[in-house]
Amino acid sequence: MTETSTTPKNISAKPSIASVSLNFEINEPAEEPSPPFSTTWREKPSDSLSSLDDNLFIDDDHTLGNYKNNDIEINENHFAKTDQELISTGNRSALNDRSEFLRRKIKEVDDQLQREELIESLVRIQMKLASMDEEEDFEMVNSKLVSGHKFIVRKGSSSSECETCHQIIWRIVKFYYYCKICNCCVHEGCLNKVNISCAALAIENEIKVEIKICPEIGLAKQKFKCAGCQTKLSFFGNDRCMPRLCDYSGFYFCHSCHWNNTTYIPARIIHNWDIREYPVSRYFYHYLNLLRKKPIFYLKDLNEDLKGLVGELDQIVKLREDLMDMKFYVITCKDALESKILLKLSARQHFVDDSDVYSLEDFIDVANDELLEFLIDVHSALAQHIKTDCARCRKKGEICCICREPEVLFPFDNLATQCKVCCAFMHKYCFARRKECPRCTT
Ligand SMILES: [Zn+2]
Ligand SMILES: [Zn+2]
Ligand SMILES: [Zn+2]
Ligand SMILES: [Zn+2]
Ligand SMILES: [Zn+2]
Ligand SMILES: [Zn+2]
Repeated sequence: MTETSTTPKNISAKPSIASVSLNFEINEPAEEPSPPFSTTWREKPSDSLSSLDDNLFIDDDHTLGNYKNNDIEINENHFAKTDQELISTGNRSALNDRSEFLRRKIKEVDDQLQREELIESLVRIQMKLASMDEEEDFEMVNSKLVSGHKFIVRKGSSSSECETCHQIIWRIVKFYYYCKICNCCVHEGCLNKVNISCAALAIENEIKVEIKICPEIGLAKQKFKCAGCQTKLSFFGNDRCMPRLCDYSGFYFCHSCHWNNTTYIPARIIHNWDIREYPVSRYFYHYLNLLRKKPIFYLKDLNEDLKGLVGELDQIVKLREDLMDMKFYVITCKDALESKILLKLSARQHFVDDSDVYSLEDFIDVANDELLEFLIDVHSALAQHIKTDCARCRKKGEICCICREPEVLFPFDNLATQCKVCCAFMHKYCFARRKECPRCTT
């Protein structure tokens, strides 16, 4: 089977056993400059490997907005923002929902003062939507689509490098083009020479992540050509053609396609817990940046041993499992909804969908202690609500079925344990003494 693509989605997310079954071929140079990654992968027919390989893919079954299903979904009102916050996010669908809600509310409300406040909110939101329409119309007229990038004209006060010629763009004096999807910038005159496709294209279609550490295939297999622009590479030629290795993809690139930008490498984190930056090609630099917040790494599937070996991860896994238990109390509690307690998790909503899924950023934040701090804070706020502040939630706790002390227990209590058969609650120390569940043995 032969497959051709101009995006790196062909880069296998499979571990070594799958990579071995792939042949690498580079297309002969075309008359026109070739698009980046015009490489052809040919998979050897191998039925025995294919079923195994499929299980080892990280693919878009696990991407943002498409999480594994849960029994109870979070009511989106738990994450509802204030009108001012909504306006500053500029999220069109949330703003539309909010104006629909306000319209309905205005009809229902009798109190004059409240009505006026609602009308004022509605007007502010409508004005924001109108100004967004205007901006979008302007962008539609002035934007340029090149190699999947959506470039819009910009003029600003700071400087950055042109993606094509690598010269500084002095924004203060010149117009430049900026890709609103992957954030790269080019001079006006360089616009038509952009030869690296927009990394966002690959993410839009299908997310595949290389989880083998720097799967280098060697320059000979690349026919001594840059994996991006097909320029001839050599260790003995001029400086620009000196091969540079991309630590993420394992491909060699020329200096135009590889600027020695460094970033975090998913495979090194997953297998080595190595949270340091490594040099990657320009394309994969953008690609990994775009991927950074997407919750796509299921730790149990990828490296179950990791949590036992990394102290802080172990703690984080426990806190996240507790959050899943706590979620069942707060999503059914009116007071919790009103106090918007789950808003604390709005930056990492995937934490209430599945306790096992991580983004690249989560891993980085484990290493710099930010994630643990964040989770301890959320955990204690939710525990405070459920166990102390809220009579409604407190009532849902259960007393120990062994000692029957009046203090109520919850599944996320450190002191508590639950019978695996009948789900009865008991103190861990009571169970340790009695060694059996009284409900199941009577
Ligand atoms: Zn782009
Ligand atoms: Zn330029
Ligand atoms: Zn190149
Ligand atoms: Zn409550
Ligand atoms: Zn007890
Ligand atoms: Zn039991």
